[in-house]
Amino acid sequence: MTQDRAEALAAIAAQIKTCTKCDLYRGTTNAVPGTGNIHTEIMFIGEGPGFNEDKQGLPFVGRSGDYLNYLLNLINLNRDQVFITNVVKHRPPENRDPLPDEIIACKGYLDDQVELINPSVIVTLGRFSMARYFPTAKISQIHGQPKYDDEKYRAYYPLYHPAAVLRNPGLRRDMETDVKRLLEVIEKVKAMRAGATTAPEPKKDDDKPSGPPKQLSLF
Ligand code: URA
Repeated sequence: MTQDRAEALAAIAAQIKTCTKCDLYRGTTNAVPGTGNIHTEIMFIGEGPGFNEDKQGLPFVGRSGDYLNYLLNLINLNRDQVFITNVVKHRPPENRDPLPDEIIACKGYLDDQVELINPSVIVTLGRFSMARYFPTAKISQIHGQPKYDDEKYRAYYPLYHPAAVLRNPGLRRDMETDVKRLLEVIEKVKAMRAGATTAPEPKKDDDKPSGPPKQLSLF
């Protein structure tokens, strides 16, 4: 049976809410599957929910979220225009780093979200989401340097984690410069898509493009 994108993403969110694949769900108030525009060109992937996110069931609603909103505003975007999620969907106790087994347990959910939304640009926030696409890299060396995927017509764009910047204001200038460069990255993917001679990977849902890749709609 074919599901449309919204239904398929809602089904994933429902699975996440009752997930017991790892122990992270124990002691949490809410799972945090992710939120935003499911037809967006830009997906942000953070690390995992913190205290406020666990209380509200929404990603990036605490201090890091305020800073992420500020960063989006720098390039005239708001949260409703992008999709925001995390590598792990339940809050690690005391906000510790997610463990490798926990990231693996949650991986299928994130893989499916990425495949369904099929964004043009995936912005990774911090080390753990960066490691999905840049497994051996150091964030201090590659932040703000996009990697282009010619098969998926997509860019992966690594940024520092907003919380790291709040802890270390010396990173703020780099972070904000990197965010402003996101516009160039989007333009480049737009050009890739416009110049594509073959269609990008088919999607699972009914939103399959029937012709050449769609144009970016945000700008
Ligand atoms: N930090 C994250 O990585 N994700 C959130 O949702 C909130 C804070």
